[in-house]
Amino acid sequence: MSARHELGKASKAIKARAEEWSVPWRQCGLRFEGNSRLKRLMGSVKKANEPACFSFGFVAILRGTIMATNSPLDALIIGAGPTGLALASDLLRHGLRVRIVDKADAPTTLSKAVVLMPRSLEEFQMRKLSAPALAEGEKVHSFSAYNHGEIIFRAEYARVTSRYNFLLNIPQTGPEKILRDELIRLGGQIEWKTTLESFVDHGDHVTATLTTPEGKSEQIDVPYLLGCGGAHSPVRHGLNFEFIGEQYHDNWLLADVDIDWKWPHGHGYAFFADAGLLAVFPMPGGRYRIYIVEAESRALGREPKLEDVTEAVERIIPGMCVLSNPGWMSEFHCHHRRVKHYRKGNVFIGGDAAHIHSPETGLGMNTGIQDSFNLAWKIAYVRKGASPASLLDTYDTERSYVGKQVVGLSDFAHKLASQFNRVGSLSRDHIWRFFSHFYTNHFKEFEQGLQVRIQYEPSAVVENHGHQESLHNESVEVVAGVRAVDGTLQSARGVSVPIALYDVLDPLKFRLMIIAGHQPDQATREAICKMATWTKPVRDFLTPTLVLASQTTEGFEAFDGEIYLDPAMEFHYVYGAQKGGLFLIRPDGYVGFSSRPIRMKDLEKHLRGIFTVLSTGASS
Ligand SMILES: Cc1cc2nc3c(=O)[nH]c(=O)nc-3n(C[C@H](O)[C@H](O)[C@H](O)COP(=O)(O)OP(=O)(O)OC[C@H]3O[C@@H](n4cnc5c(N)ncnc54)[C@H](O)[C@@H]3O)c2cc1C
Repeated sequence: MSARHELGKASKAIKARAEEWSVPWRQCGLRFEGNSRLKRLMGSVKKANEPACFSFGFVAILRGTIMATNSPLDALIIGAGPTGLALASDLLRHGLRVRIVDKADAPTTLSKAVVLMPRSLEEFQMRKLSAPALAEGEKVHSFSAYNHGEIIFRAEYARVTSRYNFLLNIPQTGPEKILRDELIRLGGQIEWKTTLESFVDHGDHVTATLTTPEGKSEQIDVPYLLGCGGAHSPVRHGLNFEFIGEQYHDNWLLADVDIDWKWPHGHGYAFFADAGLLAVFPMPGGRYRIYIVEAESRALGREPKLEDVTEAVERIIPGMCVLSNPGWMSEFHCHHRRVKHYRKGNVFIGGDAAHIHSPETGLGMNTGIQDSFNLAWKIAYVRKGASPASLLDTYDTERSYVGKQVVGLSDFAHKLASQFNRVGSLSRDHIWRFFSHFYTNHFKEFEQGLQVRIQYEPSAVVENHGHQESLHNESVEVVAGVRAVDGTLQSARGVSVPIALYDVLDPLKFRLMIIAGHQPDQATREAICKMATWTKPVRDFLTPTLVLASQTTEGFEAFDGEIYLDPAMEFHYVYGAQKGGLFLIRPDGYVGFSSRPIRMKDLEKHLRGIFTVLSTGASS
């Protein structure tokens, strides 16, 4: 029997099973696993150079037998906070079938996090979600720290290398609503009053036990369980993952208030005094979020009142301001904790379930959302059969590294901020002054804290070639592992208009940026066109994009992809690729592969590691 005939038979069998399960045939398909016979068949079809037509889904054929996960779902998400909402909406965007449950009755009305970092805004931009955030938020342009009226630190966000060169202060209810609306727009719904009680990972699927709003027990089987249940995560507990770290002894006061004072709105402030620390951040509508840590602990043991907050502020900056119109006020203790791993088998965790820290750095919600944007495309690609299951390991490698850095940075910032005795405060002021000076000359280091300098390394899907520069080399903007830097290109078709890279990045797809360099020769032109054609079998997952340092597309008529012009070579300079280069931008906006100059062989090998269906031969 010919390979093509056997493949046809297998497809018919899957179609019959799909009808039996009442699942639309178009959502089903073939998924290659292990030494599957089908994989070998597909190999022989490809070798015979016959056009292979297939789609992807949840049905697997192993040694000729149809296996199924017995689930109409791809994933179950526990928790509808920012992490769960970002994950659910991205998985839906990829066309996956997800359920998202939360034990709460309804969304929180507490303001909690107040900052969206530039990197989160870039990721929102890729999903066309930054406009509603910008419409609601308050831009913060600088942060200054004072000790007894003398300035010890100042940072201006205008220098940030992002179109979002500011912090966007917005109560957490804002981003949560934006993500919730997006989830609903994409056909999802949140199941409130639904609690995860327990789960068992069977190796090929997970059985989760939920309590429904009616108090009934429901068991569901899913390929993946995604734990976004916050600091008390039931999934982390179920995995027996240690939450390494400790609680700080300091007592924190928080209040959302109006302030009558001389300082301009739109800037962040920290005031140090012998009595303690007062941090003030602008909020939309002319309001402020304030945090107070006092040198002498004065635990109230109850919800604070405006008088309590006013008295604490007076002890730190006496006679400087009048507080009024209180909103959310709270007294709390902080922890710094993290897990070592974000995955075990078919169970994943992210957000506060994996890392918590003090609010000084404003990174908790941002890191959770970015965990989700890192994980979603990997789950989608594996579920669709485009990538090997090993891709999922990179979520743990990449994000546990980031979590460690974030918790470490916040711990350092907290310890530095809470030195109030004579010796401690002297060294605190020296360190703040040192950083103020250091960041003036090494702004990229400061950008680490704003999450635009995250660098995934090592990672199985990050590979640099042809240069040794690292992110810390001030002259190099883009290497594999960092987020793609925005830049302006011109469209090559029709009227030539400027287009920003971030306006064309798609969270569903890789974008292979082939930067041609100055006057590429005939052999280079041919190799570029051949590479684009070779990626055709994964066109649903990758868009080849050619950037030409010229006014026309002449010589690239055979290029199968998008072409942009960069006649002044500005984009070439941003990417340090005046002599040409390759930059594979992942669906999460990070550069997965880079080579300067163009190195097709290395790119081919890298892409074959990501896409199981790509054969050899692009660069031979
Ligand atoms: C005072 C304060 C200030 C902060 N400031 C900032 C800031 O400026 N910037 C910043 O980035 N971050 C900040 N944070 C942190 C930020 O609020 C958190 O990092 C963020 O809420 C974490 O989101 P999450 O989705 O991971 O978890 P959560 O928001 O905690 O959501 C978890 C959800 O899971 C649900 N859940 C739990 N258990 C179960 C179960 N068994 N079954 C079903 N559902 C369950 C919960 O009901 C909850 O809705 C601040 C936090 C606080 C408290």
